[in-house]
Amino acid sequence: MTSSAPEEWLDIEVEGIRMDQDAITYARKHLDYIETEELRLGNVFVEQFVTAFESPAVRVAGTADVLGWSDDTGEFIIGDLKTGRGWVDADSDQMRIYALGGMRLAKKQFKTVTMTIVQPCHGVNRSHTMTVPELLKWEAQVLIPAVQAAMATTAEAVPSETACQWCPAKAICPAHIEPFNTMSVAQAPEALSNEQLTSFLDNIAKVEAFIKALETYATKRIKDGASLRGWQMGPKKAHRSWVNEADAAEWLHKAGLVSSQIFPHKIITPAAAEELLEKGTTVTETLTKKVSSGLTLCRSFGIGE
Ligand code: SF4
Repeated sequence: MTSSAPEEWLDIEVEGIRMDQDAITYARKHLDYIETEELRLGNVFVEQFVTAFESPAVRVAGTADVLGWSDDTGEFIIGDLKTGRGWVDADSDQMRIYALGGMRLAKKQFKTVTMTIVQPCHGVNRSHTMTVPELLKWEAQVLIPAVQAAMATTAEAVPSETACQWCPAKAICPAHIEPFNTMSVAQAPEALSNEQLTSFLDNIAKVEAFIKALETYATKRIKDGASLRGWQMGPKKAHRSWVNEADAAEWLHKAGLVSSQIFPHKIITPAAAEELLEKGTTVTETLTKKVSSGLTLCRSFGIGE
């Protein structure tokens, strides 16, 4: 996108997102990883769409953040930047699929594959190395049987939070459509039995995911030029901000506000403090408290659940 350093983008808005310090740190770590691998290996590419398996009915593919290889040592690498806090193992199915697809894209023979996760919120990069025969064995014994099972006419959807999280099939998946259909013709909540109410609560996440998938599909279709009666793309809610903070402060002073009102000093949160403190230093419990703002409906995990 640009040859400028990530640090130059601090506080600049890109596609509606303001680049904060976290985003800059993530970009810097990712760039450092890419540059190190490029120097070490010689061949490094970013944002490559790779396909591990393809048939008329199924495609197992994705976009690898980074892939590269050495012509001398036979090493192939896959790198992935994770900006979320959820821990991701360097040896994951996703990385193995990217590795298979990446090697096919490179059209070369390799000896080893190193898969690296760049996830700055969990510290240093973590890597896993395996031989190419090990990866091909996993493909034959795990990936291909899984693809065949999914293609079988008797295949059942097996929903789970992690499996469904990024699945693009939610809008056509029976495991999500059926709960939606059931709820859409349900009686008023007051008329439901406790068992029916519990069953509906259990399915809320699937129904919400289905609705979200519908919105995603509709957005894409409209962006692709489709006309959906009564729907269009509109601007997101805009938040007001000062055009010039110095001018605004001067105006507020003249309007009668004092400095402590215009520039309130607030102590940082315990979480923000721990980010700034030396690695491994935690804020002592005697300095913090947790105050709940009230009760909310949530899962109970009692005996037998
Ligand atoms: S959304 Fe449906 S098809 Fe996709 S992972 Fe979940 S259960 Fe499987």
